[in-house]
Parts: sequence; structure tokens; C-alpha cells
Amino acid sequence: MIIAIDGPAGAGKSTISKLVASKLNFQYIDTGAMYRGVTLKFLRLNIQPDRVSEKITELQTEIQMDGERIFLDGEDVSQEIRSIEINQAVSAYSAIPAVRLFLVELQRAMAVDQNILVDGRDIGTYVFPKAELKIFLTANVEVRAKRRFLEMQEKGESVSFEEIVSNIESRDRIDSQREMAPLKKADDAIEIDTSAMNIAEVVNRILSLYEMKQREGLNR
Ligand code: C5P
Repeated sequence: MIIAIDGPAGAGKSTISKLVASKLNFQYIDTGAMYRGVTLKFLRLNIQPDRVSEKITELQTEIQMDGERIFLDGEDVSQEIRSIEINQAVSAYSAIPAVRLFLVELQRAMAVDQNILVDGRDIGTYVFPKAELKIFLTANVEVRAKRRFLEMQEKGESVSFEEIVSNIESRDRIDSQREMAPLKKADDAIEIDTSAMNIAEVVNRILSLYEMKQREGLNR
């Protein structure tokens, strides 16, 4: 079974996804981490977004995912991909079709023979259009920025609230306006606005939607 959780930056996708996946004993795949990993690699190689298509072969990078952790050619870059530099660059690299095709192939391969919960922007619309349960998580921009701000503060990153608002707005704009597989709610996704909900409430709502799907499947 596949559960797809999509939504804009800071809607709480990864926090919620990890908890739901662990409750259901599903493998969790954080596709944002994969786009961040590729972005890190291009930045290290000093390849600008406008040169990526011709240079995609230079990527030659083995990406391994292990829950929340991501490895590039065996190197654990899980911390490094959460930096402000990556936040600012990732949407431009993610808009490039060659990058998306490369990662979508990996994502689809991970779904073989296991129950997975996948979070991202295009999971329900493009990567797994037949996912059995699709959720679209949203929250208003102030709430999303506040959550990210607290996260960054906890990690000791010095970034202002205004910078976070502007990064979230600019990523959402690029992510939803790109030509290939933009950020968009799938027609059959269930939207949950988490602005006024706490983590446990969102997790429980998704778990009850999952149980409903299971019952529907049994009655068919
Ligand atoms: O989910 P997260 O905020 O870590 O994602 C980082 C960026 O990766 C997004 O802003 C978007 O540009 C890109 N992304 C994407 N498609 C996905 C997941 C993430 O384009 N399925």
C-alpha cells in the first residue's frame, strides 16, 4: 500500500509522516530530502541550475535513504541538507525535468514490495497517482513560518522570521509554478488544514482516514 502526503513548505509533512509511518509500520520516504541531497551535490560541484540538464550525467551519485537519513555515495548528509543555503537553492534545481526524472525513478523503485508512506509535492499527482490514500497538508503561511523558525532556533541556526517567510513564499511559488509535476492537490486527495491543529490531532485524523480506506477495501 502507498500513502502519499503532499503539501507546501512547513505544513508539517515530515513530522506527521514519520509518526504515521511508525504507527502503521510503513517505510517512510522523505522525497524532499532527495531533492535537497541532489541540490547539495550540484552546489558542491559548482553547477548552476541553468547548466544542470547538460551536466546531469556528472551527478553519478548513489543516493541511499534510511528513514530520515540520506546518504550521498555513503556520506551521511542528513544535517547538511537542512541548511539555509539548501533551502534557498533547492526549488530552482527541483524545477529541472532531468533532476525530477532521475529522482522519480528512484522513488518508484523504492515502492516495490513494501508498504510505504511518501511525502513531497507531486507524490499523489505524479509519482504515485494510484496511491491508495492521498493527503494534502496545508497551513497558513504565518503558522508554517513559525514552525520552521522554532525548528531553526532549536538547531541554533541564526535566521530571522522574515527570512523564513520569504523563503517559504518563494519556494511555494517556484514549486507550484514549475512546468513539470508542480505542487498541487490531487483531485482525490483529502485536504487537512493544520493551522489550528496540534500534531496528535493531525496524526489521528490520518490514521482514521487510513482505517476508513482499509474498511472500504474489505467491503469491496
Ligand atoms: O519537503 P522539503 O521542504 O524538504 O522539500 C524541499 C524542496 O524539494 C521543495 O521546496 C521542492 O522544491 C522540492 N521537492 C519537490 N518535489 C518533491 C519533494 C520536494 O520538488 N516531491
